[in-house]
Amino acid sequence: MIKVNENYLKIQPSYLFSEIARRVSSFQKENPDVEICRLGIGDVTLPLPRACIDVFHKAVDEMADESTFRGYGPEQGYGFLREKIAREDFQSRGADISPDEIFVSDGAKCDVGNIQEIFASDIKVAIPDPVYPVYLDTNVMAGRAGSFHKGRYDGIVYLDCTGENGYLPDLPKEHAGLIYLCFPNNPTGATITREGLTRWVEYARENKALILYDAAYEAFIGDKDLPRSIYEIDDAREVAIEFRSYSKTAGFTGVRCAYTVVPKECRAYTERNEKQLLHGLWNRRQSTKTNGVSYPVQRAAEAVYCQEGKAQVRELIAYYMRNADLIRKEMTGLGFDCTGGENSPYIWVDVREDSWAMFDTLLRKGGVVCTPGAGFGRCGEGHIRISAFNSFQNVQKALKRIRDLFTPGAKTQARRE
Ligand SMILES: *Cc1c(COP(=O)(O)O)cnc(C)c1O
Repeated sequence: MIKVNENYLKIQPSYLFSEIARRVSSFQKENPDVEICRLGIGDVTLPLPRACIDVFHKAVDEMADESTFRGYGPEQGYGFLREKIAREDFQSRGADISPDEIFVSDGAKCDVGNIQEIFASDIKVAIPDPVYPVYLDTNVMAGRAGSFHKGRYDGIVYLDCTGENGYLPDLPKEHAGLIYLCFPNNPTGATITREGLTRWVEYARENKALILYDAAYEAFIGDKDLPRSIYEIDDAREVAIEFRSYSKTAGFTGVRCAYTVVPKECRAYTERNEKQLLHGLWNRRQSTKTNGVSYPVQRAAEAVYCQEGKAQVRELIAYYMRNADLIRKEMTGLGFDCTGGENSPYIWVDVREDSWAMFDTLLRKGGVVCTPGAGFGRCGEGHIRISAFNSFQNVQKALKRIRDLFTPGAKTQARRE
């Protein structure tokens, strides 16, 4: 008899994006002449930087010629890319990371989902709420969660992020071995200061814990005082693994390129309390299960670090951040408490009512799509996420409709354009 992994039967179905799609399409059917503005998207809308496209084409042509053709690449990724990553993303900011500590991959989603394989199945895992759902679901699949009731799994340490703590999780009250942190955060847009992050590094050192630091949105940090990498914090090398991606930074969501940093000193412990370094384990896991990212894609990612590439990436980010700034100002002006939108492409709005009810109001009366906070965890209830990934024109249009909706006396009907 072939048996299934019953942990998969425990996972709560993810209604969020299918339910959004269902409600939008039924509204559109009833109101075919309303032009819908989508501010629910967690995907970029602008094309790849020119510098990336040019070398991407060139690298494809190299594959057509026997003298420049490349087969399987080096397991951790090409040296040309890892050297630039180490220098530009870390050493230039005073973070001591070397090229052989970088593992290039086809996405931060898979890395952040796969990394838990190298840890024991009976560890305690601490996960922020609300947050990117991959952390929780992959640990449920691995058997680290008990039964599910009232919106939560037994056995998981949830780190509540609410208005009271400024959407920054407090240190866990019960011991946790593996801790997920994501800054700038998806969905709240919250960022963490150097002092705040130092407390987590100290906690991990004192409690023999490990931090998984998801920095997929670091490129959106404009504030010079905020850390962009956890390795900017002293002594983090031993206690933290960091995840980065070109997806949101440079429009690679459809191209696929990311990387994970596992410093040489980074450690966990064996059953007998002996220190075990993780670099070799992750290397073994990756070289066993993947052959990495294609040569042209790694060349395209490398172009992010050339002079034109850097300027073009800065422009992409500035474009989205202009949207974010407008959204945050407008929503704040309407009397909503907001976080994010500064140093982050997401604006997290406290709507003080059921998040799906607010979703329906914005959709049915304004023709605007947002993401209901409840889809990201129990603490997401009462909030919506508005995304800056859209054209400036669409953002302006959506905000005008929201303003009309919440300004007394303004007309409260879906606008027909
Ligand atoms: C988008 C996103 C990622 C990763 O994306 P990839 O496209 O798989 O590199 C990782 N973490 C968070 C929080 C994200 O929002």
